[in-house]
Amino acid sequence: MKRRKFLKALGIGAAAVTMAPDVLAKVPDMFNINREAPATAGDKKLRLSFYPYELQLRHTFTVAEYSRTTTPDVQVEIEYDGIKGYGEASMPQYLGESVASVTAFLKKVDLSRFTDPFQMEDIMAYLDTIQPKCMPGKAAVDIALHDVIGKLLGAPWYKIWGFNKTKCPSTTFTIGMDKPEVVVEKTRECAGKFNILKVKLGGGHDKEMIQSVRKVTNVPLTVDVNQGWTDRQFAIDMIHWLKEQGVVMVEQPLPKNRIDDIAWITEHSPLPIFADEMMQGLSDVLPMKGVVNGINIKLMKCGGMHDAYKMYVMARSLGMRVMVGCMTETSCAVSAAAQLSPVTDFADLDGNLLIKNDLFEGMIVNKGKITLPDRPGIGLKKL
Ligand code: MG
Repeated sequence: MKRRKFLKALGIGAAAVTMAPDVLAKVPDMFNINREAPATAGDKKLRLSFYPYELQLRHTFTVAEYSRTTTPDVQVEIEYDGIKGYGEASMPQYLGESVASVTAFLKKVDLSRFTDPFQMEDIMAYLDTIQPKCMPGKAAVDIALHDVIGKLLGAPWYKIWGFNKTKCPSTTFTIGMDKPEVVVEKTRECAGKFNILKVKLGGGHDKEMIQSVRKVTNVPLTVDVNQGWTDRQFAIDMIHWLKEQGVVMVEQPLPKNRIDDIAWITEHSPLPIFADEMMQGLSDVLPMKGVVNGINIKLMKCGGMHDAYKMYVMARSLGMRVMVGCMTETSCAVSAAAQLSPVTDFADLDGNLLIKNDLFEGMIVNKGKITLPDRPGIGLKKL
């Protein structure tokens, strides 16, 4: 049951939640530890709470391996000194996490042991001691913590990092695999709103997919094969054809374990090759040198903004290109990722546009370009 409906069923409003421990006892999975008293100004303990939230997709989403209409999600809040920060864990099935696994992780997190949210290194190291993985759960805590810190500083993260928001790129908008007439229709719906589109390939009808999009628009395209090709020579022949069709970048052409073949494709490709499925966190960046031209950084895979920034720095130091991507997410996690976008070559931040039940206003897309708000932290306004 959704949180609002659940609370309504209990006959209480959201405001009552922070005030009523007896009620909280009845909703063990909705709100977590340290909720005995509301966080108020002067209260210098970090307090974590969370609740499951199912994302409703506008369209059935199809990639090489599966289709889906919803995405499981957990919303996180951290309160400190009267300030509330928002975070989010989004769990598309290929990440191997679920609402149950993420909430189980979050229940083990006791942030009340920390009295200074700026001690990010200590807090993130503590999360790693609880569990080695559960990256969406860690990302949710990390994002909420960044939101708190930005609000304490009174500045958005792109500014804290020293980035120029006028350099935000246009975001790609994803066209999923479908029948030609559906692809034409979907492309028509978004044509004119975006300056660059991302087309999902690897389902065996790649040329048909591109030709359907090209019936509607001539904007540059990126393609995401999602490991869907198997033969490296086929990949190179296809990439040459794609270049002639105005494609500018190829994401994850072969399965992630085919490192040598991917390196061979990168060497012979007329288009830049980006790693996505083979790129999880910070420790994966260095091994990608010489294998691909660029990496796709996603908060749900790397554990949040703290490591995303480190991945950007490391990739640049290795002479690699950088892309920032997302899952289907609310504007919370998308706006957190967007703080990094001014220094990226490609941004694929359409996750909030793919859902019907967003909870926030944050980063917006204006004439196809990512536009960051000046609100502090990750820049959210609760809807
Ligand atoms: Mg991808």
